[in-house]
Amino acid sequence: MAGVSYPYPYEAKVSQTLFDRASLVTPGGVNSPVRAFRAVGGTPRFMVSGTGPYLTDADGREYVDLVCSWGPMILGHAHPAVVEAIQAAVARGTSFGTPGVGEVALAEEIVARIEPVEQVRLVSSGTEATMSAIRLARGFTGRSKVVKFAGCYHGHVDALLAAAGSGLATFALPDTPGVTGAQAGDTIVLPYNDLEAVRSAFAAHPGEIACVITEAAPGNMGVVTPAEGFNQGLADVCRENGALYISDEVMTGFRTSRAGWYGVDGVKPDLMTFGKVMGGGFPAAAFGGRADVMGHLAPAGPVYQAGTLSGNPVATAAGLAQLRLLDEAAYDKVNAVSAEIQGLVTDALAKEGVAHRLQTASNMFSVFFTEEPVRNYDDAKTQEAFRFNAFFHSMLSQGVYLPPSAFESWFVSTAHDEAAVERIAAALPAAARAAAQAQPEAGA
Ligand SMILES: *Cc1c(COP(=O)(O)O)cnc(C)c1O
Repeated sequence: MAGVSYPYPYEAKVSQTLFDRASLVTPGGVNSPVRAFRAVGGTPRFMVSGTGPYLTDADGREYVDLVCSWGPMILGHAHPAVVEAIQAAVARGTSFGTPGVGEVALAEEIVARIEPVEQVRLVSSGTEATMSAIRLARGFTGRSKVVKFAGCYHGHVDALLAAAGSGLATFALPDTPGVTGAQAGDTIVLPYNDLEAVRSAFAAHPGEIACVITEAAPGNMGVVTPAEGFNQGLADVCRENGALYISDEVMTGFRTSRAGWYGVDGVKPDLMTFGKVMGGGFPAAAFGGRADVMGHLAPAGPVYQAGTLSGNPVATAAGLAQLRLLDEAAYDKVNAVSAEIQGLVTDALAKEGVAHRLQTASNMFSVFFTEEPVRNYDDAKTQEAFRFNAFFHSMLSQGVYLPPSAFESWFVSTAHDEAAVERIAAALPAAARAAAQAQPEAGA
């Protein structure tokens, strides 16, 4: 989308220079695709520092951050207590390759917060967590097929980078070059919020499905709240058919409540995956659940899984410091500021007559530029994303950093105070006007 001009020209000279340099040595100039601004166009901002609710880019511009590192920074950036815990941990040595104290404490904290998690294994990324959980489910059940939902993201695991084939309950097709038909062939991709489709898949493949994996409350196609009874229905269908129900809480875990989305809907999974908030801004993630299932993992059992930096002392110190500060009062605060921002956004868009729909999962929310309810990925794709792009650039030009895609959740933190909210409020009228005036791009 290079060359597209926006109604709010503004400069990002140092970021552009950095992006040019990065593009020579790194594919697309970034280490994770959505950072490149391909969906919205323009120059990605290279951030140099963050404090509280603010980020500062390489050109010295400050932004209210509504991405929060895609969720992890729920206490805001550089929270003093978290920084102190990290500094103390670094000074004690950064990796031992042996069991350590911090990983025990972090595992205990997770088990104490989330009742279905009887045992937990720490890893370094959400991708590793879901990949390992699926291997464990296959090893435990002795079955090969995996059910996932279109629009749910579980990291870049080969078997989960699969798109729906034609018709329900057909085999999935690789979603990307590099994933073979064999790797995607055991994946069944179904429409989200469609329990009938799940029942049909089990009927079509008796005794073959190892697990159903779902985002506990999806945030990776924008926020799509599970329909009443959907998660419970998944758990029931899995139980009836001897499959495991895996709830991916990498995004929602320790964010949507003290006990994540489990703390909201109370549906008990067999296995769960975590990441983002639990790492406190470091690479720490986890999967856990039923002790009888987790007992199949090496060295207790035969299913192999390992990691040189798993349970890293600095990462576990950061995660633990963050979790210890996340009491009920902290969640009340995040929920309240989220609700306030949601209200401001929807008021501003309504005032300009922009068709939109705000969807939430506790303090996670996103704005779909459509009036229709968004229940699944196909619904999400009907929105007028070009309006989001104009809205995004107007907000960016006024110092508010939104996720650079219409298909992402927005995130807030306990650090988003009145001053930060006022900056957002001040930026919204012009952004809503830009959204109202936006035209579909030629050829789009
Ligand atoms: C972010 C995310 C992942 C992947 O985690 P990484 O740490 O990026 O590998 C998996 N599942 C969900 C629901 C996520 O939001």
